[in-house]
Amino acid sequence: YIMRIVLISTPIGFLGSGKGGGVELTINSLVYGLLHLGHSVEVIAPKNSKLYERNEKAKLHFIDGEEQISWQHQNYNSPVLIPENSLLAGMCEKGLDIAKKADVLINMSYDWLPIWMTLNVEIPIAHIISMGSESSVISNLISKVYAKHPYNFAFHSKIQADDYPFIKKPIIIGNGFKLDNYTFQDSVDGPLAWVGRVAPEKGLEDAVYVADKLSEKLKVWGVTEDKNYATKIEQSFPKGTIDWMGFLSTNELQKELGKCRVLLNTPKWNEAYGNVLVEALACGVPVIAYKRGGPSEIIQHGETGFLAIPDDKDSLLYYLQFVKNINRKKCREWVENNASSSIFASRVLNWLNKVIREHNLRRLNK
Ligand code: UDP
Repeated sequence: YIMRIVLISTPIGFLGSGKGGGVELTINSLVYGLLHLGHSVEVIAPKNSKLYERNEKAKLHFIDGEEQISWQHQNYNSPVLIPENSLLAGMCEKGLDIAKKADVLINMSYDWLPIWMTLNVEIPIAHIISMGSESSVISNLISKVYAKHPYNFAFHSKIQADDYPFIKKPIIIGNGFKLDNYTFQDSVDGPLAWVGRVAPEKGLEDAVYVADKLSEKLKVWGVTEDKNYATKIEQSFPKGTIDWMGFLSTNELQKELGKCRVLLNTPKWNEAYGNVLVEALACGVPVIAYKRGGPSEIIQHGETGFLAIPDDKDSLLYYLQFVKNINRKKCREWVENNASSSIFASRVLNWLNKVIREHNLRRLNK
């Protein structure tokens, strides 16, 4: 049957700003996949948000307000802060209102308020948890809600879900990418690439170290979230080692990324998934990543790239010499077979059906 789905976006930045990180792309892929299967989707998002062109059939509701501070940039024990004229609260209110006439509300914001609502409203709320455990108050709340609503949380990778040890049987949905947004390029002699928000949890310095050792440039794409961090890295290496490419749209990014011979992925945290790895693979670009977090479930060691010893920069260097042995076609194939937007949408739909079924059973038993 046709499902009516309402989705709450991230309260960190508007869709298209890059501040929302991988969640922005995930929302677009999901909306595309759900629309494509004939479902109806409405998206509640910050003012100025834009969905991809192909998603114009999804109704967008704009909310104006103060953004939240990302949890990974606060202390683990920080309290929840809700500013005056809160964007998050505004999105939740709008979401609840519209969802009265829908089958399910999907929450994509990693925050306290929408998770808390699960216990206190008569609408099934399905949470896509987009990060590892970054806040004690949120983790404790997830634990409390999970005890009553074990089906209402989904994760991108098993390793991410392990950050929440109370989750006994995690629902893993991976992620999805619209393959025809990415062009395969067979550029075995291209430059070194790094893509991500420029912020400490992403470990850019380790990739710059590798480029410097090889006396090469490192091409860096992404939003500079932390200017001090960026300047500090720049000053620790010879001038010009980093080739700052800025934040590009998916289409522009994939054109440039596809010309590279390898993507270096060096996060310091338990990366929930790692969209940029899959985008590289979709263009035929192998990836060398630290063996931790989502990347360790994405990269097939020796097939689509290599998994290096975490935080060991020389291990990255070691594997670089074998990159030319990787068949770039295999990289693209992995995405086609494991992370297309239709595979992702059907995983999510299976999960949503479960959430709705459980919700209805609970109501019947009341
Ligand atoms: N990105 C982009 N343009 C750029 C650099 C990055 O659109 O120039 C996007 C990229 O497509 C990806 C996101 O930024 O979806 C980063 O997501 P990822 O899951 O790698 O990390 P997160 O930021 O969520 O921690």
